[in-house]
Amino acid sequence: MCTGRVDLEFVLRAFLNGMDGVFIGGCRLGECNYITHGNYDALNMVHLCRKIMEHIGLNPERLRIEFMSSGEGILFTEAVNDFVRKVKEIGPLGKSEGIDEDELRSRLEAVIKLVPYIKIVEREKLALHLDNIEKYNELYTTDEIDRLFDEVVSYYIEPEKCQACGICLRKCPVEAIIGGKNQIHVIDQEKCLKCGTCFEACPPRFGAVRKIVAEPVPLPIPEEARIITRKGEK
Ligand code: SF4
Ligand code: SF4
Repeated sequence: MCTGRVDLEFVLRAFLNGMDGVFIGGCRLGECNYITHGNYDALNMVHLCRKIMEHIGLNPERLRIEFMSSGEGILFTEAVNDFVRKVKEIGPLGKSEGIDEDELRSRLEAVIKLVPYIKIVEREKLALHLDNIEKYNELYTTDEIDRLFDEVVSYYIEPEKCQACGICLRKCPVEAIIGGKNQIHVIDQEKCLKCGTCFEACPPRFGAVRKIVAEPVPLPIPEEARIITRKGEK
């Protein structure tokens, strides 16, 4: 119903599924039917996505957003025809950019996995609705996006510090923490959104959750080594 519902992940997934181009057609800016003005969110997301595409080596012209009313059929036809012409001129996805099929797939999969993290890092900018749409062109810079990917954050529970209090496990929004009574907790890095909730929630006297920036995350300790034996316990 609304372009505001077009998630960054949908666009990247369309490319992962082999689409050569993605066209988003939305209502005119300022004429949204909802108080949310979701078309500004879509415009904002497109600018971010185009920078991400550049970062992974894809031509950002493969993604376009246009605004029109439902009565502007001719404008819609012209916009779509022009976009199709442009995408044909650019050529097939990946091949035209000199990226091998497997490599393209792995780059797109890696970015899709990071979408929740990207949204957390860019949440303040993503919430902006700018009156002057030219300003969206400067909203995300190439340096900023390169840095975002170079400095990806991960979270790791230090086994020797974890006291198995279970607070992080209860607060994790995606059940990415594995643990139980008297068991050192570990983070399932495949499920982790990198939201940092566990880092904030772990009591300072334990300080067991470590934030890791741009470094590999140590492997979790084996299951059989996770039992904590406390004083007085056998
Ligand atoms: S960073 Fe967020 S998603 Fe990841 S384990 Fe911690 S609370 Fe869960
Ligand atoms: S909150 Fe900290 S001490 Fe408690 S289970 Fe999680 S990592 Fe361990």
